[in-house]
Amino acid sequence: MRLSLVLAALALTSCASTRPASATLQGLPADLPVLTRAEWGAAAPVAEMVPHTPTVITVHHTGTPADPGRSTADKIRALQAFSQRADTLGDGTPKVAWADVPYHYYIGTDGLVAEGRDVRFEGDTNTRYDLTGHIQVVVEGNFEETEPTPEQLASLEGLVVALAGEWDIPADAVAGHGDRAVGQTVCPGENLKPFLPVLRDAVEAE
Ligand SMILES: [Zn+2]
Repeated sequence: MRLSLVLAALALTSCASTRPASATLQGLPADLPVLTRAEWGAAAPVAEMVPHTPTVITVHHTGTPADPGRSTADKIRALQAFSQRADTLGDGTPKVAWADVPYHYYIGTDGLVAEGRDVRFEGDTNTRYDLTGHIQVVVEGNFEETEPTPEQLASLEGLVVALAGEWDIPADAVAGHGDRAVGQTVCPGENLKPFLPVLRDAVEAE
């Protein structure tokens, strides 16, 4: 079931976004393919969120098989619907209702970058680490099993470099979920982890 897959992804981590679209997009390059919250038809947050100032960037995979036949808009709408209700994760763990999508940005298989939770508010997670200051970026797919697409890697690099510039985030503050929640998750997967140093180098080069 699609939703159970979404749930499994959420079990790995969450994050969120509520900043006005114009502000969110301010620091993003014009050639980055962005799907705004308005464009995907986001519902408003359903609960209070915790304000924070972004200081680090944390990269995730959804942990579920990529689904290139379904639009990114449709997938993030489903993710939001799941996020905003109490439910059960793929492993049977209960999940509380979250205010919004747990991640701040979702990168579909086609490289489209969908806005998630307002980046000025903390995300959500089912693992244990302090979410304060984390910009949560999730890439669609299970990178323990498959490879990210070239379009995803290009968008991930463009997004991370732009966010680092906008929020004055240093290269060494870019890491994977497993680096934050040590021993709790393999996220973002063995086939995406080698790209993390590439991201740090790209930030460093700016
Ligand atoms: Zn994760």
